[in-house]
Amino acid sequence: MSPHLIFWISALVRIVLVLAGTGVACYLWGAIPGLVLGLLGMTGLIGIQLFYLQRLSDWLENPNSARLPDGWGAWTDIFSRLYKLRRGDEKNQAELAEWLARFRQAMTLLPDGVVIMDDVLFLEWCNPAAEKHLGLSLLQDKGLRVTNLVRSPEFMDYIILGRYETPLTLSFRERKLIAHIIPFENRRQILVTHDVTESERIDMMRRDFIANASHELRTPLTVINGFLEIASMQPDLDTATRNAHLKLMTEQGERMQRLVEDMLTLTRLESIDHPLRPERINMRGLLEQILQEAHALSAGRHEITLECNGPDLLGSTDEIRSALTNLVTNAIRYTPEQGRIQLIWGSTSQGPKFVVQDNGIGISAEHISRLTERFYRVDKSRSRETQGTGLGLAIVKHVLLRHKANLLIESTPGTGSKFCVQFPGTAAVA
Ligand code: ADP
Repeated sequence: MSPHLIFWISALVRIVLVLAGTGVACYLWGAIPGLVLGLLGMTGLIGIQLFYLQRLSDWLENPNSARLPDGWGAWTDIFSRLYKLRRGDEKNQAELAEWLARFRQAMTLLPDGVVIMDDVLFLEWCNPAAEKHLGLSLLQDKGLRVTNLVRSPEFMDYIILGRYETPLTLSFRERKLIAHIIPFENRRQILVTHDVTESERIDMMRRDFIANASHELRTPLTVINGFLEIASMQPDLDTATRNAHLKLMTEQGERMQRLVEDMLTLTRLESIDHPLRPERINMRGLLEQILQEAHALSAGRHEITLECNGPDLLGSTDEIRSALTNLVTNAIRYTPEQGRIQLIWGSTSQGPKFVVQDNGIGISAEHISRLTERFYRVDKSRSRETQGTGLGLAIVKHVLLRHKANLLIESTPGTGSKFCVQFPGTAAVA
């Protein structure tokens, strides 16, 4: 049955009941008392309608589904339908609010900046990444013209020319940004910013590395090619000269080999596909091996001692051997004959610590922070004379980074240097 029909039938039933009651009362007690009773019944019916109309009007002031009355008669059905309608609305609203909160959170976490501007470029909304990239503050700058906030001639030109199909590369507040304006509904515009400072820096480092590596390889290659040319032009060279040339070529060949090996080591250390596989390193055994190699390299020209009181270490044996050997070899190479070199393996409150101390040539303060850069050398000719590649400390830095250890360098020119490697407490194995 349709709701309309039910409504009218139940209303009619109530009226008929009151009329029938009036009829019975007239029959029992006479016309006047019967009619008075009927009038009272009708007034009651109207009063109930007015009461619920008032409740409905009150409810409309604050239409919360939980506050709806139950109603009586036809009102029961009206209130139950209103309840369903309101519940549906409330559910939709809650869903919408939840969706909006999720969208806001996603926008907040987005590494790219998003700025929404109106048709005349007034700021309507922006996410925290855009605040960081462009120095905006949504709270303070909302409603202000973005071109007055992002004061950059390149950005102004981009807006004036309006060629939004291509993004703009923008240098702004010491950052390199790719900015792109995308027009959307109602002539509103979205400005998207992407920070490429770090990738530019890495690109630049890569370019520098290739340039430096080519430069490093060019010198030995030129020497080898030169001698080969002499050998082919003068086949009758005397044996002594020929042997001297072969010796020099071999040296240059070995230098190239060392360079290539160090470059490969660095590339391997930097690769994310090459995760660290920690194992227990027998530090006493490893340091005694390093000490033996140090004695062999020094060939009795230095006094080298080892103090070993620290624990075993959790890490990659090969990588740690390579890093510590680099430090010890450097101490030998940059310490004149009769110098003293101390290797100390011990524990501190922060964790295990390795120290190489020499009384060699030392390093002046302005170079210290740059020593771990690739191919950085204080004295190029000394580094080459002692078979250096300029990559040793860069390798050390990477190995230590992978082991969450720090390198501290203290040095005084003419007095000596101290290279300390501080491992974290978690790297010690009892
Ligand atoms: P290299 O192959 O040139 O030794 P490294 O990266 O190992 O390259 O070292 C970088 C530079 O740091 C060296 O060229 C040298 O000038 C300086 N250096 C490293 N260790 C010492 C040390 N113990 N004493 C003095 N200078 C050092």
